[in-house]
Amino acid sequence: MKFDALVIQYEPAIRLGFFLGIFLLMALWELAAPRRALTVSKIVRWSNNIGLVIINSVVLRLLFPAGAIGIAVFAAENGWGLLNYYSLPYVLAIVLAVVALDFVIYLQHVLVHAIPALWRFHRVHHADLDFDLTTGARFHTAEIILSMLIKIATIVVLGPPIVAVVIFEVVLNGMAMFNHANVHLPLAVDRVLRLLLVTPDMHRVHHSTEDNETNSNYGFNLAIWDRIFGTYIDQPRGGHEGMTIGIHKYRDPKQVNWLPGMLALPFIGKITGYAINRREWSKFEDK
Ligand SMILES: [Zn+2]
Ligand SMILES: [Zn+2]
Repeated sequence: MKFDALVIQYEPAIRLGFFLGIFLLMALWELAAPRRALTVSKIVRWSNNIGLVIINSVVLRLLFPAGAIGIAVFAAENGWGLLNYYSLPYVLAIVLAVVALDFVIYLQHVLVHAIPALWRFHRVHHADLDFDLTTGARFHTAEIILSMLIKIATIVVLGPPIVAVVIFEVVLNGMAMFNHANVHLPLAVDRVLRLLLVTPDMHRVHHSTEDNETNSNYGFNLAIWDRIFGTYIDQPRGGHEGMTIGIHKYRDPKQVNWLPGMLALPFIGKITGYAINRREWSKFEDK
């Protein structure tokens, strides 16, 4: 289809344009109406968090030059995947694909909390001592590679329209910046918005040092998965201003906010430290 060819051709520009636009918007919003005072200097956090994003982008480009879009094109050409097999109305197929991809991201997020070895890598996302739009993009390189493999497997099975993959990438990227933003959304707006979408206040609960709060609110885009599957917590016990962000035992900025420390973080501590069936910070995380 002609439209697909256009989308494929301009995909990098579309993604970069949305990324820069939303980044700028959220950065200005954070300056105008911050939710919490930051504990580590913005320069240190931003340069290191963004440094990690740049490393991840280069590694992804090298390992998966075709990207998720390339896989979707390949699946379409070969008639692979449910949505290529059953011909649904185009718009319905796009909506179904975006929702299905979001559900897989939710499941993946639960998975990286549940399995100890994967949690070690996901820790890098949680160890940030503050919570702002750059937190939304800081993931260990190994976790980014795992995400890509899961995304590729999903696309092969699902056979989503190419446009749906572009929409999903743009929305996920934008929502990650929005729901990690250190912004003050009017409470009434938050309450209505989070019936459908993950808001900053909803996702901030997930970055609490309290273990039951960390292990809740896994959604990235749609707020419905946490409500359906019983992983939803409304507000942090300590309140949004009083709660502590990060991981109990990893609070040295050199370790958690500087790039070399962040990259090494999965490899420190005992391997049996933290599993879903026996998690108590005080017992396991400090050995
Ligand atoms: Zn998490
Ligand atoms: Zn997060």
